[in-house]
Amino acid sequence: MKARPVIAMSVPAVVGAEECRWLDRYVTSLAACGAVPWALPFVTLPEILGRCVAEADGVLLVGGKDIDPHFYGEEFSGAKEAAPGRDAFEQMLIPEVVRLDKPLLGICRGIQSLNVFMGGTLHQDIAARHPGQEHEVTILGGHLAEIYGVGAVKVNSHHHQAVKVAAPGFEVTARTADGLIEAIERPASRLVLGVQWHPEKIFFEDAAARKLIEHFVDVCRG
Ligand code: MN
Repeated sequence: MKARPVIAMSVPAVVGAEECRWLDRYVTSLAACGAVPWALPFVTLPEILGRCVAEADGVLLVGGKDIDPHFYGEEFSGAKEAAPGRDAFEQMLIPEVVRLDKPLLGICRGIQSLNVFMGGTLHQDIAARHPGQEHEVTILGGHLAEIYGVGAVKVNSHHHQAVKVAAPGFEVTARTADGLIEAIERPASRLVLGVQWHPEKIFFEDAAARKLIEHFVDVCRG
């Protein structure tokens, strides 16, 4: 068991003042759990990417821009600005993380990217039907049920896209009352979990949010 697991993070290509502010939440949350945050470059040479994943004890996909809908067979229809470099990188990164059975946590864009690059689809724009603030989700199973218990939990929500069809091999482990998917997990993996909400934003104020990131880091400890 490692006291200080190394968590590789997939982050935006361009990190200006705004990105620095919100990226800091992920970094300080991981560090507060005793993990070592490590930002990965967009390297797509298979042997180098494979070595990066092999060296990591876990992988965190942070929030960011929309996924190019062509990756799930659709034209732009509500999806906003994409991040081509990050899409291409995560298309290679995510299957490699699953292949090596490293723990993975995807947050916001992270659940969407996880789903798309494992073969699922997205709602391109749900802003009209979904509140952009705090709301309840129902926890249905998986690691999330270990963390939160089965039933209703309040989460913070800042997204205009969501998982439409979950990728093959994935289980839906949280939904809103009107059926929107808010979390997916891959039961065959040690821990491959995507959540649509933002535990890192309220890590220091909310015990349940803290527990989610602590659980991820604990699995990464091995
Ligand atoms: Mn939501």
